[in-house]
Amino acid sequence: MGMAKQMMMEHDARGFGYIDGAICLDHIVDEDLLRDLEADENTCTICGRMEPESGVAFAVSLETVAGEVMDAVKHDFWVDEDNRYSTHSTGDVIWHVAEGAFDPRYEEQVLSVLVEQIDNGAEWTDGSGEALDGFVGRWERFAHAVKHQVRSGFAVAPVTSYVRHDLTPPQVVATFLHELRIYVDGPLNLVQPVPAGTSFFRGRPMAQPGEVPSTAKDLGPASADKAAANRMSAQGIPHFYGAEDAETVAAEIASHDPKPLALVGEFKTTRELRILNLPAKPDIPGIFNRERRPERDRALWLREFVRLVTQPVIPDGRERVEYAPTQVVTEYLRWVPEVKIDGIAFPSAQSDSGKKTFVLFFGPEDVAPAGPGAEPAQCEKEEESPMRLALRPDPTFTLAQEDISLWRVKRSYGAEQISELEFEFGAM
Ligand SMILES: [Zn+2]
Repeated sequence: MGMAKQMMMEHDARGFGYIDGAICLDHIVDEDLLRDLEADENTCTICGRMEPESGVAFAVSLETVAGEVMDAVKHDFWVDEDNRYSTHSTGDVIWHVAEGAFDPRYEEQVLSVLVEQIDNGAEWTDGSGEALDGFVGRWERFAHAVKHQVRSGFAVAPVTSYVRHDLTPPQVVATFLHELRIYVDGPLNLVQPVPAGTSFFRGRPMAQPGEVPSTAKDLGPASADKAAANRMSAQGIPHFYGAEDAETVAAEIASHDPKPLALVGEFKTTRELRILNLPAKPDIPGIFNRERRPERDRALWLREFVRLVTQPVIPDGRERVEYAPTQVVTEYLRWVPEVKIDGIAFPSAQSDSGKKTFVLFFGPEDVAPAGPGAEPAQCEKEEESPMRLALRPDPTFTLAQEDISLWRVKRSYGAEQISELEFEFGAM
């Protein structure tokens, strides 16, 4: 094969032609990118530094850097020949992966050179199957299917090779949910034991002191016939919603109820629980770390997942539909993965300091007042046979009278502008 032909084929494969120039390794600040590069040039066309050919090499060709950048771009984006989906210019995608990778003094200059040399007018699509926006797109299709087409989607088999078209609504739901199993069964170590004796705070809103009796029964989960539709559970299915401290639970209550007071109980567990901990800010490896790219994809998915399941829903009646996606996700994560969990922790939307809220898979029968001869709070004794009472396990949560406190809620509102780029890329 002729030299020229071989070069042309190489250029086609990587998506750009010969690039003139070189850059000091010192201008590259991304450690993962730096690790893959070796100095072999004695001139930097970015800052103008020049040393004799005989000296120690300190720069790397821009063509090599461009190869790394485009390799990263191709991990998160693909060229959609049919222009069916949302598209981004080559400049957008280069900035998306390489922003922050270079010394801020030279960043604009370096990226301008790369964009100028690489841009052949191609339009890029996110959602290669691994990328961030692919997850958001899948969530949206899942949420639409669950809200408006089918609730019990996980009764059908998931589709293994993901094709956007031609999936039935139950297949859309089943396939999306199947991909979430990794959070429980996968290698992320998100399921953690929580020792017996841990406090979980639950509360109820009040217009005035005394409106809600100070008992475990009244502060525990509602009975099945009174359990309202909630973010993680459908109407009629009681769950123990709580938070890690009284202030957070009072703020959570204030976010969906106008009453000025909250009566809060500090429940303590009587056994170890296993809780799926959805972090506010998962550790996200850099795009230039090739070995950790699968981990990065999962972490980005996780961050988006947490953002999507915690986004505020205004309780104006639509929540019965708007909560459907998170309700279905919760049921799936509770019942389907091999690892069994007692609940899910996620960051409270009402806490600036990353305090956690919980949905724990327990009802009123799992809660009792603390102290000797503690009885489960909710069940009316006369409805139960002595046999059932004897078989019932000890309550998982107890509440001592001295652990009940009264809170006045504080409300404040503010606003911040979202930049266009942030909006387009889902808050990178
Ligand atoms: Zn330089």
